[in-house]
Amino acid sequence: MSRAFAVSTILARIKAQRPAVVVASACCASVLAVLAAWHGRGQRVVLEDVLHVALAVAAPALLAWLLLLRELAPLAALVAPLQALAGDGRPAQPAGAGAGAASPRLLARGLAQAVEHAAAHIRELERARMAGEADARLMEYARDKMQAVLQCLPDGVLVLDPAGDVIFASGKIEPMLGVQMERVFALPPQAWCEDAPLRALLAAVRNGSSDALRRSTIEFTPARVPDKHLCATVQPLTGDGSDLVFGTLVVLRDATREQVARQASNDFVAHVSHELASPLQVIGTAVEQLADPGCDVAPRARAIDTIQDEAERMATLVNNLLNVSRLETGAMRPERQRVKLDGLLRDCVQLAQPRAHGRQVRLHLQLPHALDAVAADLDLLRIALNNLLDNAVKYSNDGGSVTLAAEQGDHELVISVRDGGIGIAPEDQARVMEKFYRVRDAGAAGRGGHGLGLYLAKQIVELHQGRLELDSEPGHGSTFSIHLQRARAEPGEG
Ligand code: ADP
Repeated sequence: MSRAFAVSTILARIKAQRPAVVVASACCASVLAVLAAWHGRGQRVVLEDVLHVALAVAAPALLAWLLLLRELAPLAALVAPLQALAGDGRPAQPAGAGAGAASPRLLARGLAQAVEHAAAHIRELERARMAGEADARLMEYARDKMQAVLQCLPDGVLVLDPAGDVIFASGKIEPMLGVQMERVFALPPQAWCEDAPLRALLAAVRNGSSDALRRSTIEFTPARVPDKHLCATVQPLTGDGSDLVFGTLVVLRDATREQVARQASNDFVAHVSHELASPLQVIGTAVEQLADPGCDVAPRARAIDTIQDEAERMATLVNNLLNVSRLETGAMRPERQRVKLDGLLRDCVQLAQPRAHGRQVRLHLQLPHALDAVAADLDLLRIALNNLLDNAVKYSNDGGSVTLAAEQGDHELVISVRDGGIGIAPEDQARVMEKFYRVRDAGAAGRGGHGLGLYLAKQIVELHQGRLELDSEPGHGSTFSIHLQRARAEPGEG
């Protein structure tokens, strides 16, 4: 191998190498060249060889130095941008400026500082990124929490953007309006809303009408859920005291109960007015009859009876109404005392006697030898028993019989009112204790009444933690039984 070939091979190789590899390779190539020459001369050391060695060592060293500078130049060029990246405040040197002149040590130090600054800056950025991520998670959590609150509200919530499109709808909207959620989000309100009043309101929001900027409320029965009654309140979403409108809030509230209560109250007034108007009319006619000087004794006596009956009927209605009102306002609080039942039951039978007599109905009282006292409100219990006895007489057939009985079990005391009258059809049995419920068939309806007696009796029994049960067969009679807990015997009581 010639020396020229060896050197050119090494040069070609070191161009592609890193500085340390270059230096090592160059030195090896030189030593190999010297050894080759030495070997070629029969291993005699002469001055020429010494010069060769010196040249062989110096040339690669110089070459290596130049290559090292060349390799370092791009690194030196990196220092400036790294410093700028690290933001260490020093003005960035243009790439390559002075890099060639800098010593490797200075370069290395600059590079190390720049890398350190860059690392610090990267750490800072990492911290800022983590803080940003934490903030984003917190905002997401707050948003989820807000949505959960809106979803859990008993009311349905719709939020519209300023253009009038739905951007939030709580799940309650679906059952309330009978619409599909996908349609609510995908279509404009005019396309999914089938309720004209609500649609008009949402259209006003969409058109930005001045009415829509005020809080307004409407009530309607949804077309797809006709058994509900809804109340929709539309409210512009504005910032505190600013004119900026972010959108519109629509709250849908289920107002079915209020509507039912309103309806019941209207029905009640109509019912009571009618119930008072008819006896008053009958009384008026009877009074006219009495005022007639030519009225005979018999019609006169009938007119007096009529007035008495109708007055009694009105008194019963008014008393029942007063009791219902006391009950429903919470004013009817049982004042319990130890009530000896036999005495109370005897009184009730005596009170019912005139009515029973008028219809040739026989009244029986069945009491056991010994009957415990009960802890009850005497007046309230009397109202309940009188209502049951009045009904038993009223719904008996003429000449029938009614039995008031008491029985004593281990834990409870049962008072029953049994008649052999018209009975109650199974479909009515479940409803006869509802307020104002009256059986419609001619046999029952023709006997007058207001549908309050059983309601009151049941409420009173329940105020005593008891229960009112019904056993009835149409055409064979009915038995209503009051179940009460037995009061503890007081010392000395038998
Ligand atoms: P009303 O004043 O109409 O009698 P109630 O509340 O006392 O009102 O009774 C409700 C309905 O229950 C009555 O209209 C009647 O149809 C039925 N009912 C109550 N008691 C009897 C009974 N002993 N026999 C048959 N039906 C009865």
